Amino acid sequence: APAVFTEAEVYQRSFDPQEYLKAFYTMSDSQGQPNTFLAKNLKSLYEMFSLEGLSGQTLVDVGCGPTVYQLLSACERFQEILALDYTDQNRRELQKWLKNEAGAFDWSPVVKYVCELEGDREKWAEKEENVRKKVRQVLKCDVTRANPTEPVSLPPADCLLSTLCLEGACKDLATFRSALRNIGALVKPGGHLVLLTVLRETYYAFGNQVFSCLYLERSDVEEAVGAAGFDVRFSEVQPYPPGDARTDCDAVLSLVARRRDPGT
Ligand code: SAH
Repeated sequence: APAVFTEAEVYQRSFDPQEYLKAFYTMSDSQGQPNTFLAKNLKSLYEMFSLEGLSGQTLVDVGCGPTVYQLLSACERFQEILALDYTDQNRRELQKWLKNEAGAFDWSPVVKYVCELEGDREKWAEKEENVRKKVRQVLKCDVTRANPTEPVSLPPADCLLSTLCLEGACKDLATFRSALRNIGALVKPGGHLVLLTVLRETYYAFGNQVFSCLYLERSDVEEAVGAAGFDVRFSEVQPYPPGDARTDCDAVLSLVARRRDPGT
């Protein structure tokens, strides 16, 4: 594990989006082994976005990175999507795919998998088009700021999504708790928070880079979500098989919570 916390500037300087995508977002690895991490996360996202009330006008994805897998079920329930991330190269990589530019990552195997979960694999091209149409803006953000999109002020959204971001972006539990409060303000009272968070991980690696990860227990996350003004509606832990040299991740937590009225 890296001795030091890899802060946002390290992401900006050395996070390589293409290496990241190659390492974690192909449906099977170079030995032909299925990517169970990705498949489980896609299933969880599908289940969470099937819950009653998980629909509305706007969704904000915080720490989107260069990926779209997290938007594939979400895009069926929301009309407009805003994607936010700290690093320029990750926002750029995402834009490449959204604009169908040459050299963009091929998400089609992942999109087909999600369409199959949703009942019709043949709808994959339609879903790609849907995602491209619904992502309206890709903006810079920093989850450690009181207003993460400063100097831009966003109108509060109906849903807030964040996958595998806060545990990398926060150096300790206090920062994690305040980051949840910061991003929590981006959603309306009564709106939802959808989180995918790794548990008991201290690092993840790809290419020749290693990034630190805040070691979290399920209760740490649930308590921080509650303290940020949300009521947990759904929380499920999927174990992560040991023996992966790229990470010491132990499990993934999928969580859905609803923002309380600040007056109550
Ligand atoms: N959501 C994607 C990417 C996760 S990688 C996925 O599920 O795979 C972690 C992301 O967090 C990176 O894109 C990185 O740029 C972003 N990040 C790191 N520090 C951040 C900060 N302080 N504020 C916002 N995003 C940050």
